[in-house]
Amino acid sequence: MRIGVYPGSFDPMTLGHLDICERGSAIVDKLVIGVLENSSKKPMFTVEERLQMLKEGTKHLPNVEVRPFSGLLVDFLREQKATIVVRGLRAVTDFEYELQLAQANRNLYPDMETVFLCTNAQYSFISSTVVKDILHHGGDVGHFVPENVIKIIKQIRRN
Ligand code: ADP
Repeated sequence: MRIGVYPGSFDPMTLGHLDICERGSAIVDKLVIGVLENSSKKPMFTVEERLQMLKEGTKHLPNVEVRPFSGLLVDFLREQKATIVVRGLRAVTDFEYELQLAQANRNLYPDMETVFLCTNAQYSFISSTVVKDILHHGGDVGHFVPENVIKIIKQIRRN
């Protein structure tokens, strides 16, 4: 069984992430979305909130699981018995960091491969940072975030 991990902060989940989840889950038997707990960036949403968004946003994908992780990605891969990492590439600017990460990971765990999925052009401008900015200023994120995730965000921000 070919198990892949799609790691990230997902703070919050966007349509760009959903696109990678759909396409990534189609090329492996099981895709585990790894939600990073110890991000150096101070997140807008707690890990529980981000897990809830991803579970809701991917509930139509039967071979997708959502789990939190902290520490080294390679340790999480081993724990999940995964040998594939799925990452999305939006622009050339993503590439330098991603290449470094992929090479460092393979150095630590030679049995793994990183697979890069190029962003769907219609989502290439979407990032969690942009979504956070819009939310911060009370704007409409309807074109950036899956519909069922917007409901969760509204609920969280109302509390
Ligand atoms: P990180 O905190 O790891 O940078 P993010 O949560 O921002 O992660 O993103 C996780 C992954 O999703 C990364 O591989 C990133 O390149 C990819 N990604 C984010 N937004 C998009 C998008 N609009 N299209 C394609 N891939 C994306």
